[in-house]
Amino acid sequence: MTDTVQSRLAAVHAAIGEAACEAAGADSAAVVRLIAVSKTFSAEAIEPLLAAGHRDFGENRAAEAEQKWPPLKARWPGVRLSLIGPLQTNKARQAVRLFDEIQTLDRPRLAHTLARLAEEESLRPDLFVQVNTGEEEQKAGVAPHETDALVALARDELGLPVVGLMCIPPLGEPPAPHFALLAKIAARNGLARLSMGMSSDYETAVRFGATDVRVGSAIFGPREAV
Ligand SMILES: *Cc1c(COP(=O)(O)O)cnc(C)c1O
Repeated sequence: MTDTVQSRLAAVHAAIGEAACEAAGADSAAVVRLIAVSKTFSAEAIEPLLAAGHRDFGENRAAEAEQKWPPLKARWPGVRLSLIGPLQTNKARQAVRLFDEIQTLDRPRLAHTLARLAEEESLRPDLFVQVNTGEEEQKAGVAPHETDALVALARDELGLPVVGLMCIPPLGEPPAPHFALLAKIAARNGLARLSMGMSSDYETAVRFGATDVRVGSAIFGPREAV
């Protein structure tokens, strides 16, 4: 098979399947969702995946997604778009209109804004709380010890559809302890979904219970530096 986005997509699916089988038995591959991270890639690069039947995509910048996705969503029914990058409160209205889920809820103020928008727009994208498992100063995400309180606020007090947790482990550290920590915090909060694992570590993430992996360059090829 020649090296195309479709063949790379198939290879990633196969690797997820293998890791999931090792982790939990034959049927679990079906429950791991592969989010193709299309940030920086053009509509032309994305369309072959849509033509191949893939529907789950992730973008990290609302403004870029706004340019690219409305026409693609109109042409290809069933697309599910995830916001996987930081969300400024003043961009939240735009985000709930475009994204089917937001994986970067990381502070009380954003939870309150999303609750208000749920009323005003009648739009309730699924939410993941992003946890800064490495407690890195420059990184988005709520601190591990503040996660339970944010989940309680968003889900229990404000009634938002919080479905899981998301993390991005620190660069250059073994990711496994971060995946294990995220799984532990999710379990004690009764959250079923774990968005973890990127091109370099998604197989490890699946072994640690990822239900959603976010894979960009392993499917689309290397990104230009931005
Ligand atoms: C870019 C990005 C990814 C995908 O990264 P790759 O290494 O290309 O697979 C996953 N998650 C987030 C939050 C990202 O910003």
